[in-house]
Amino acid sequence: RRQPSRKGSMADIPKDLLQEIKRLEDLFTVDTAKLKAITSHFQDELARGLSKEGGSIPMNPTWCMGFPTGHETGTFLALDMGGTNLRVCEINLPEEKGEFDIIQSKYRMPEELKTGTADELWGYIADCLQQFIEYHHEGEKLDKLPLGFTFSYPATQDYIDHGVLQRWTKGFDIDGVEGKDVVPPFEAALEERGVPIKLTALINDTTGTLIASAYTDSEMRIGCIFGTGCNAAYMEHCGDIPKLEHMKLDPNQEIAINCEWGAFDNEHKILPRTQYDIIIDKDSPRPGQQSFEKMVAGLYLGELFRLVLLDLHEVAHVKIFEGQDVSSLKKPYSLDASFLSDIENDPFENLSETHDRFEKALGIKCTKPELELIRRLAELIGTRSARLSACGVAAICLKKNYKTCHVGADGSVFNKYPHFKARGAQALKEILDWDKGRDGKALGKGHDPVEILPAEDGSGVGAALIAALTLKRVQEGKV
Ligand code: BGC
Ligand code: MG
Repeated sequence: RRQPSRKGSMADIPKDLLQEIKRLEDLFTVDTAKLKAITSHFQDELARGLSKEGGSIPMNPTWCMGFPTGHETGTFLALDMGGTNLRVCEINLPEEKGEFDIIQSKYRMPEELKTGTADELWGYIADCLQQFIEYHHEGEKLDKLPLGFTFSYPATQDYIDHGVLQRWTKGFDIDGVEGKDVVPPFEAALEERGVPIKLTALINDTTGTLIASAYTDSEMRIGCIFGTGCNAAYMEHCGDIPKLEHMKLDPNQEIAINCEWGAFDNEHKILPRTQYDIIIDKDSPRPGQQSFEKMVAGLYLGELFRLVLLDLHEVAHVKIFEGQDVSSLKKPYSLDASFLSDIENDPFENLSETHDRFEKALGIKCTKPELELIRRLAELIGTRSARLSACGVAAICLKKNYKTCHVGADGSVFNKYPHFKARGAQALKEILDWDKGRDGKALGKGHDPVEILPAEDGSGVGAALIAALTLKRVQEGKV
C-alpha cells in the first residue's frame, strides 16, 4: 500500500516529529486482537439491545416485515431528510422487477434548520414537498400519494407509520422533537398547506438500503450507512427478539432491526478512545451519546484531524506550524471529511496539493516534514474509521451466523473516502480469520465470504419499496 517514495522522505523527518508520528500511530491503530475483542463485545451488545432489559444499542424494530418479493408495484413518493440535502422522489415500481421510473428534486437543507425550531423544520419540509407536487403535477387532481419518509435518526416505532424520536444525532439539535412522535407535526404541516400526501412508512436509511439492495441481490443480508452518521440494519426473526415476546408474533416472521449501532460502547468499556475523541463528545450537543459513531462517522473525521493538529501546535513538545497564525484552525468543524479525503488522494511525491490546500483554506504554510505528518494523520484517522466500522459488520455476521453474504453500503465515507472499502475488507478478514479458512474449509480464491458492496438507493427506492410492502400488508389485513 505504501508507495516506495515514502520511505525515502520519512528519513528526512526530524527525530522529534518522527516520534510524534509514532505516538499518533500507537494512539490510532487498532490491531487485530483489539478488533476481535471489540467485535465480540459488539455481538453481546446487539443481543442486549434485543433483550427485555435493553442495552445501549437501541436495536429498534422497524415493522418492515421481511424482504421484497419483486412484485411490489405502484407509484410512491420518497422523502429523504439528510444532513445536507432534502431529496424528494416519485418512484414508479414496475409490475415485474425491472427498471424503476424515478423523478427527483433536491432541496438544500439550510444549516440553521438543524438548530432551529420544530415548526421551522416541518414547515420547510412540507414546503419542499408542496413545491415538488406543484411542479410535477401541475393542475392535476390528485388522490393522496403514499409517502415513504426516510428519517435517519433513532426512533421508537409501535407502528411503521409512526416514530418517536429517541434523540437527535449528527449534530441536529432542535428543541421539542425528542421523545415525541414526529409524524403528527409533519402531517399537520402538510395539512396546513393542503399537500395531498399520506405518510405510509417512516423508515431509517439503513432499512431502506437493506431493502433496496435485497430487491436486486438475493444474498443481501445487511444494509449499512457509512456517511455523516454510521449505522446498520438487518433481518431478525421475531422469535429471537425477547423484547417483542409479549406481542406473540409469529416466531418465524422476519422483521428488520435498525441497530442504531452508533450508540455502541456509550459506557466506554472497549473502544480505544483518545483524548481527541473525548473532546469531540464533550463539545457535541449530546455528550455521552453515539460513542461509536463519533469515532467513525464522516461528520467527525475532519474534526478529529483538526483537534490533533491544534494539540500538536499548542501543547505537544514538538511544535508544528511554528510562528504561524493558526486562528483558522481553531474553528470547530471547519474541516470536513472531504478535506481528509483530498489529503489521502494527494500523490506522495511532493504532497503539493495538500500544501496548497493548507495555505488556501487555513493560511498555514507547511514544511515538508509537516506535510508528511499531516498525511500520516489523515491515513490513521481514515483507517481507524474503516477498521472500527468493520467490527459492527462482523458482529452482525457472527450473531446471525452468516458464513457468506453481501452487505449493501451507502454514504459519503463509503462512496468517496479513499481506501475505506479496502481497509474495511482487510479488517473483516482479520476479524473473521478468513486467511485461515473458517470452519476449517480451505477458501477458494476470488471473493471474500462477506462482501461490502455499493448499495442501491435506499432512501429513495428503498423507501418506496417499504411503502409498497406496507400497503400490501394493510390490504391483507396484517397490520
Ligand atoms: C442515525 C441513524 C442513521 C445513521 C446514518 C445516525 O446518526 O442515528 O439513524 O442511520 O446516522 O445516517
Ligand atoms: Mg443519507
